[in-house]
Amino acid sequence: MSAPRRDRLALLRDRLRAVAAPLAAPSYEVLAREASDEVLVTTADAVITFASPTFTSRWGLDRRWLVGRDALSWVLPEDLPAVRARLAAAVRGQGPVDSEHRFVVRSTGEVRWVRVRFSDALGVPGVRGIVWNCRDVTELRRGADALRHAATHDALTGLGNRRELLRRVAEAAGDAAALGVVLLNLDGLKAVNDRHGHSGGDAVVRAVAGRLAALVGEDGLLTRLDGDEFAVLLRGGPRPVAVAAAVLAERALEQVRRPVLVEGRAVVVTASAGTAVCEDPAGVQDPARRLFRQADVALTAAKAAGGDVGVPFSQRLLDAAHERAELAADLRAALAGGGVEVVYQPLVDLADGRTVGFEALARWRHPDRGPVPPSVFVPIAEESDLVLDLGAHVLTSALAQLRRWREGTGRDDLEVGVNLSSRHLVQPGLAEQVRRALEDAGVPAAALCLEVTESAAVGDLEAARSALLALRALGVRTALDDFGTGYSSLSYLRRLPVDVVKIDKSFVDDHTEPSGRAVLAGIASLSAALGLLTVVEGIETEQARAIVRDAGCTWGQGYLFARPMPADAVVAHLLGRDGEGPGEGPGEGAQKPRERTSTA
Ligand code: C2E
Ligand code: CA
Ligand code: CA
Repeated sequence: MSAPRRDRLALLRDRLRAVAAPLAAPSYEVLAREASDEVLVTTADAVITFASPTFTSRWGLDRRWLVGRDALSWVLPEDLPAVRARLAAAVRGQGPVDSEHRFVVRSTGEVRWVRVRFSDALGVPGVRGIVWNCRDVTELRRGADALRHAATHDALTGLGNRRELLRRVAEAAGDAAALGVVLLNLDGLKAVNDRHGHSGGDAVVRAVAGRLAALVGEDGLLTRLDGDEFAVLLRGGPRPVAVAAAVLAERALEQVRRPVLVEGRAVVVTASAGTAVCEDPAGVQDPARRLFRQADVALTAAKAAGGDVGVPFSQRLLDAAHERAELAADLRAALAGGGVEVVYQPLVDLADGRTVGFEALARWRHPDRGPVPPSVFVPIAEESDLVLDLGAHVLTSALAQLRRWREGTGRDDLEVGVNLSSRHLVQPGLAEQVRRALEDAGVPAAALCLEVTESAAVGDLEAARSALLALRALGVRTALDDFGTGYSSLSYLRRLPVDVVKIDKSFVDDHTEPSGRAVLAGIASLSAALGLLTVVEGIETEQARAIVRDAGCTWGQGYLFARPMPADAVVAHLLGRDGEGPGEGPGEGAQKPRERTSTA
């Protein structure tokens, strides 16, 4: 017999069996393991001999048409080898074997997932075949895929998230010659949320994500790590990855800078970028961790530089970061061990020259480095909760001193100003903390003025507003510090519930210019109209004093009147026993300003 003929005969035999099978009333116990299952019975080589009514009605197929057909003919070609192997295993009698694979729906061409349990019933009378218990699991799998997708992707932008990024770095680390990462953090997204609501902030994030996606394209993997943070993973290619990262960072900043329309209004945000590179990641332990730590150090430097710049990681940056961490630890120890001193600088009524109060200023002498200026240690403290300890220390010291000065001089009108960092201002429970400090010191609330910088208050306007209102409810006064150095928007004077405006020294330095004088007079009259007191900082000369007084400012502070002095010197200063003239006496840097400039 020739081979084709033998095949045809075998086929015929199978067909005959198939036609007979439904009539043979197969054992439904075996077939319908679960009522919802769709059941096929096939020969060992997958020719259909039986189809259950659930199967035929589910797929709208005619039973007679089905019988005799190859049950594997609908399986997606890619999945076919695996399905064949499983079927063969069942035929070899290895118990029920499960397969999950895709098949194509004949009528629509749609690809769906099916889970099939193959059971060997070749020896079961009335069945004599392999039983296929089939179940469509497409929706189940879609659900699982959606869950997996949700766990690794960001819902707002559809971009991968931190988990996805870490997975992809680990994957790429195995075979890439070099990896690069660009961390991008939006500057001032919080301000957008404050002004335009969260939907406005979301719109900005989505627009930025879209632009970045277009920019990155196939060159890298763009992910969103946090509310305002994106990351791009780059692999070493023809261009050194460091160059690629720097170029990408620059272009990304350009893209972010373009205005975004939020409800018809143009909103501008910028971003800061930190880049890092890892050569030969396969040879590095935990390359992802190293890459992101380094990029983060670079990003912190970019933020510290004022934002809207890209900074590559370098050893120098890491050293500086270590130094800051060391200083922070030393400052913590100093605060705990009484190593942070508070000095006081007089506030003077410009009309009559009387000292009306003092501003408390922190001083730190490092055991090895000597005096560390507040411009260095305050920002370091602000990077952590350390600044809360600093604030608490200065507040309690200043209030205790004020009580002593008032008692020592009988001057019940004296007040004290304490600087408050933005982090401290929005700290929950601040008002209660202040109330308790006042109570402990036995000082009335009205004698305390808390100074908050303009930029700190504007950074989180709503939170700042409510904190300032809570302080006002206590009876504490508040000042907007360094006015004119940040946004210089007069509208903030109206929007922030403060009692005092402290006009920055730069306005005084401008006083010789007629325009500078006009601005000064403008701020003074607007403040007066709003019922605010004006304090001008950094008055160093008689001429400056005369000008700010003529401009209508209320109080002044500066080396002309006195430098910051230790607490012990304050009573003597108030009683007029503190030396011969301005700039001299027990204050810091006891030189005349004139001498300072000539030796500088
Ligand atoms: P600030 O609040 O604006 O403090 C005024 C600064 O101007 C002080 O510098 C003071 O010494 C200086 N100053 C006063 N008069 C003159 C003058 O006539 N000419 C010049 N050139 N400077 C004058 P200081 O003490 O170095 O403080 C710098 C900044 O550090 C402060 O600015 C404040 O923002 C921050 N700071 C100081 N102490 C504290 C504190 O206890 N807590 C917080 N959060 N910040 C503090
Ligand atoms: Ca201040
Ligand atoms: Ca100031």
